[in-house]
Amino acid sequence: MKIAIDFGGTAVKISGYKGEDFNPLWFETIPAHSEQGIRQAMERAEQVIDAHRTGQLECLGIATPGIVDSKACRVTCINNKYEDALDIDFRAWCKERFGCGLVMSNDANAALVGEVAYGCAQGFENCVLVIIGTGVGTAAMMDGKLVRGKHNQAGILGGHFIVNPFGRGCTCGAVGCLEAYAGSREILYQAEAERDHVTSAIYRERPLTMKGIARCWENGDRYAARILETAIGYYAAAAVNMIRAYDPECVVLSGGLTNSRFIVQEIEQIVRRQGWLPWGVPVFRHAERTDLSVSMGLLKEMCDYERD
Ligand SMILES: [Zn+2]
Repeated sequence: MKIAIDFGGTAVKISGYKGEDFNPLWFETIPAHSEQGIRQAMERAEQVIDAHRTGQLECLGIATPGIVDSKACRVTCINNKYEDALDIDFRAWCKERFGCGLVMSNDANAALVGEVAYGCAQGFENCVLVIIGTGVGTAAMMDGKLVRGKHNQAGILGGHFIVNPFGRGCTCGAVGCLEAYAGSREILYQAEAERDHVTSAIYRERPLTMKGIARCWENGDRYAARILETAIGYYAAAAVNMIRAYDPECVVLSGGLTNSRFIVQEIEQIVRRQGWLPWGVPVFRHAERTDLSVSMGLLKEMCDYERD
């Protein structure tokens, strides 16, 4: 059995695989409590794995946010969550605890590998990914290979491209990052402010979620429209930035909001209007199993690891 652990900011997703079949044998989600560090989440993940394993593990795959050195199996930089991850030797932990090999990846990179190998972007060798969540995650693949760069940060910092050099402060320490305007944390904050307008459908959404705002928008609420249309402008900017930087044939959109086909269409239309696409417009794809794309990517990397 191969096992993938996706350490997300709010949930840890753990799944078991047989051979190269990307349909998991089992799939469990546990709360992350990422503000309390990654060690406590690793300990709880171990218990889940022990409950499911029937014998020796073939391989383990781990994905985390932040900058990951996949060769050394270390997290080299992480922002605002799992802050103790920098001190952990994941390979030694895996060997000691499970006695098997380990592959490790940044979560957006793994999601892109998963979508290209088994998901919505099969057949494309030049591809970028934009994940819309609490933050805005990105990844890029050129000629069938993940773009990594000297320090493993190429492709993954699209949420921190500067869109306003005199704008808001970002959690990363910079000023005017795209994520400071378009992460769900920011959008929910704006929508809470809109609750003052008692005529808005947003006022009745409790608890307020991104899905709820999208629903209000689809039902014609103009306050929801104002919030989401601004956010969509930033998502489209993220896609255009990634297209200009990495020249893909395919743009994969992922994350809860992209379940709304109106939002995906809107992003695509803005990208068309932005121009500088002399050869045409990349194909837009929407990840179908957003909860599994990271794990599917880890499965692909585990299969490649076994072959090497
Ligand atoms: Zn930033």
